[in-house]
Amino acid sequence: MAESACLVCAGRSVETFLDLGSTALANKFPSAEDLSRPEPRFPLRVGFCHGCGHVQLVERVPPAAMFTDYLYVSSASDTLRAHFDDLAATLTARHGLADGGLVIDIGCNDASLLCCFRDRGARTLGVDPAENLAEFSRDTGIERYRGFFGADTAGEITDRWGRAALVTATNTFPHIPDLSGFVAGLDAVLAPGGAFVLEAHYLVDLLDQVAFDTVYHEHVSYWALDPMMRLFEDHGMEVVRAERLPIHHGQLRATVMRRGEGEVDRSVDDVLAVEKQFGIDRVDTWRTFAERVGGLKAEVMDCLSGLKADGRRLAGYGAPAKGSTLLEYFGVGPGTLDFIADRSPLKQGRYTPGSHIPIVAPARLLEDPSPDHVLLLAWNFEEEILAQQAEFRRRGGRFILPVPEVRIV
Ligand SMILES: [Zn+2]
Repeated sequence: MAESACLVCAGRSVETFLDLGSTALANKFPSAEDLSRPEPRFPLRVGFCHGCGHVQLVERVPPAAMFTDYLYVSSASDTLRAHFDDLAATLTARHGLADGGLVIDIGCNDASLLCCFRDRGARTLGVDPAENLAEFSRDTGIERYRGFFGADTAGEITDRWGRAALVTATNTFPHIPDLSGFVAGLDAVLAPGGAFVLEAHYLVDLLDQVAFDTVYHEHVSYWALDPMMRLFEDHGMEVVRAERLPIHHGQLRATVMRRGEGEVDRSVDDVLAVEKQFGIDRVDTWRTFAERVGGLKAEVMDCLSGLKADGRRLAGYGAPAKGSTLLEYFGVGPGTLDFIADRSPLKQGRYTPGSHIPIVAPARLLEDPSPDHVLLLAWNFEEEILAQQAEFRRRGGRFILPVPEVRIV
């Protein structure tokens, strides 16, 4: 893959600051049969644009290779379900959707968020390229357009469903390689005065928590507000509100409207001030970040090999995409972790991408011989998972949290 121009400003001065090696796709969990076939691997390198400050992947995998068969299901998490309900309540009130206004959710996954809007009186449409996820939302009765969203598909969407009062994208905005086409599509589908609300993992939190495992091929962008404002301004739109959220250990929610259609809230300046304070617009900050990631790798591997040398049985908990990055970059395989427990039936019976550790149901944690220590790969759901696994801990089992520093609880 060739190095690409900056996703936001199209400049050619993107400097690589973090090289995570060549890794398998983080959401492609092989079956036992797949293990005998070669697994595609792609370079995973993160760069900083000297032109606009946007942090992004230096090489990009074609989206069709990642999103047409997708094993991540939103409703698998209690925390996320509660978050979606709250988001729908807030936006229904803020944008007056209760009288049947159209909401389009881009990257709608299993339609969890749209169900929350429908229950509050909105009309709904989901846009998602995943073929396998359609069956998860079929029972909900929510209409779905199967495909990628962009300038070329927006026309067909408005012809069939009309223009939208609200477009949402939770955790899909970082996936989009053609941002110009995406924003042009937004302009085409939004009704006058309509808003686009996105939620994405936030670069300041990624930096602060050394959350390097947020990096995988699907995430081509790591968003801060400053470059995001530039992107929308280049297309006649503007960010009118910016909110930091605690979910997933730190997200940014931005509300975007056509320029002049909404009032710019004070929150935009507040968030920009935080970004300045963290120095995320300076390449030095990112070179230091990469050193911290290397330090974390040494710390976690010391901890695991020490426990192993003491004869402890080790396993993992959670097989999120971020876990795939961490396992591969740290070099943790089935020789270190006996298995990984995950609640998603779609992943049980499969293996972690690249590292090939078997994935089993969480009940296995309580079966003999049970592990002594469990590496928590879904560390962003610490509270929820520790509560679910109270019995394992009561019996003496311990969790190892790998990020932002090693903790055993
Ligand atoms: Zn740039």
